[in-house]
Amino acid sequence: YAGSSAPRQSHRISIKGINPPKEITTFEELKDRYSLPAQLYANLEKNGYYHPTGIQSIGVPTLLESRDVAAISPTGTGKTLSYLLPIFSKLGGPQSSRQAQDSGAGKGVRAIVVAPTRELAHQIHNECLKLSQGRKWRVILFSKATASTLGEKVVRDKVDIIISTPLRLIASIQEGSLELGNVRHLVLDEADRLLDTEFLEQMQEIVAACTNPYLQKAMFSATLPAGVERVAMGMLQDPVRLVVGLKDT
Ligand code: ADP
Ligand code: MG
Repeated sequence: YAGSSAPRQSHRISIKGINPPKEITTFEELKDRYSLPAQLYANLEKNGYYHPTGIQSIGVPTLLESRDVAAISPTGTGKTLSYLLPIFSKLGGPQSSRQAQDSGAGKGVRAIVVAPTRELAHQIHNECLKLSQGRKWRVILFSKATASTLGEKVVRDKVDIIISTPLRLIASIQEGSLELGNVRHLVLDEADRLLDTEFLEQMQEIVAACTNPYLQKAMFSATLPAGVERVAMGMLQDPVRLVVGLKDT
């Protein structure tokens, strides 16, 4: 991942990669630059998100430009919204509300967020609910029970986003109830843990199951040790690497 590196003074942001986008200074800029849906913008304000954090100021536009991303930003800096806002914006609206003639787009889940623990998956799901307000998005916090609802085709076809631990996803893939060919957005939250030895094989299997040529991959973490970063970069295409708030090496 060769490219430019420019220190951003205000948030101490390091950006590496070819042609990264310009940062945003307000969420409002997203309406003009990336056609952020008005309702999504309203949900930001409704939930007290008035100003983008450092990682959001660059992470959101980079993902909205359909780039793969490896992002490192300390705990509590709003990484969750950094990837959820672009997912909701890019999906446009709930699958269930898409018109019948929109048949070119495939069916089945369109975005997956993987987290190393159920507690974290739960927190991510809560953030999804904030952004979902006012529309009938189908966001599933994956568990044995919710995974089993995918046995019904009517449910399966209308799922927008699944939040899951690696094991739970693998179980559903292996039993044949989950198909990831329509996934356009795959996020690894706390990627340092997901790509460490405990989960690495499972993550490789999940990535391999996401066969859509338009798949966008993003990894977010508070730290990314060199060995793990090498693995991460190997999984990404033409990535933009973002480091916030640390003295980058
Ligand atoms: P991280 O994943 O980087 O540890 P989180 O995504 O969990 O951080 O966010 C930490 C807290 O900050 C959450 O309570 C979240 O709702 C809040 N938060 C995130 N972005 C903003 C923002 N732009 N303005 C205000 N609060 C925010
Ligand atoms: Mg987090």
